[in-house]
Amino acid sequence: MAKHRTQPSAARFATRFAPSPTGYLHLGHAYSALAAFAAAQEASGRFILRIEDTDLTRCRPEYETGIYHDLSWLGLAWEAPVLRQSERLNIYRRALERLQDFGVLYRCFLSRQELSAAIVRDGRGRLDGPDGPVFFGGSLPEAEAAAKLAAGAPFAWRVSVEACRRLLGAEADALTFHEEGAGPDGETGEIVADAALLGDAVIGRKDTGVSYHLAAVIDDAAQGVTHVIRGVDVFPSTHLHRLLQRLLDLPTPVYRHHSLVLGRDGRRFAKSDGSVTLQALRAAGWTPDDVRRRVGLLPGPAKEEPHP
Ligand code: GLU
Repeated sequence: MAKHRTQPSAARFATRFAPSPTGYLHLGHAYSALAAFAAAQEASGRFILRIEDTDLTRCRPEYETGIYHDLSWLGLAWEAPVLRQSERLNIYRRALERLQDFGVLYRCFLSRQELSAAIVRDGRGRLDGPDGPVFFGGSLPEAEAAAKLAAGAPFAWRVSVEACRRLLGAEADALTFHEEGAGPDGETGEIVADAALLGDAVIGRKDTGVSYHLAAVIDDAAQGVTHVIRGVDVFPSTHLHRLLQRLLDLPTPVYRHHSLVLGRDGRRFAKSDGSVTLQALRAAGWTPDDVRRRVGLLPGPAKEEPHP
């Protein structure tokens, strides 16, 4: 396994906005995109748009078109060509194979319910982790797994924290990343990545064969991203991303997690809430500057979005 590399400090500033076309963009997305774009401009750097469309069942072409339309309307410009993850599945698959060769992955055949039951039964992990259930498994006996495989049962690939610790030794718990923003508990500066925070996370999904985590770290490196600017809701995943970067010998960008724009009810925006899509606000007569004021990037009294 190759030695760890860090992003060369002389690299030109590059950041990205990486939406999934599983719905129309809302005010929360607008904030992320505008913040990343402003940071790139300030640093005379690159602004990259990446379409994270590996979930082929939920992604729709009209949402992707909507992304381009909304971002242009906001006045953003991005590098061409736009990278679409659905065109890179072979690359993610090869990375998955590399990790298999390192012996840090295992097949998980459990359904959601079985997973919850196993967590409760084993007393390890937790049901309400920062990114879903935290599972430390590998509990299926070899023969049973072989039988399931032979029967064609679907499975996900999970990364085993224990196997990573065996492979990397003490380094597995000493990896760090630099946070220029803040995590949910104010974490900032040099942060020690907690390899076990998400448990044995799924990095190859049952349905698509890949995962957001795997594709994102590969593409951040492939696109020369030096600064990842995104919502604080993804902060816990950064711990796993750091581990994946080490395993795959990828550089670690600087992270800048920002707080989330909240709705009038104090809740974060969801794709299911049509009233706050940029499309709906535009139709209601909002201008791009109204959006900037609403997300706090422009001073002045903000308009209120319509009720859901
Ligand atoms: N596609 C992810 C999302 O929309 C991107 C998160 C990230 O910026 O890494 O949440």
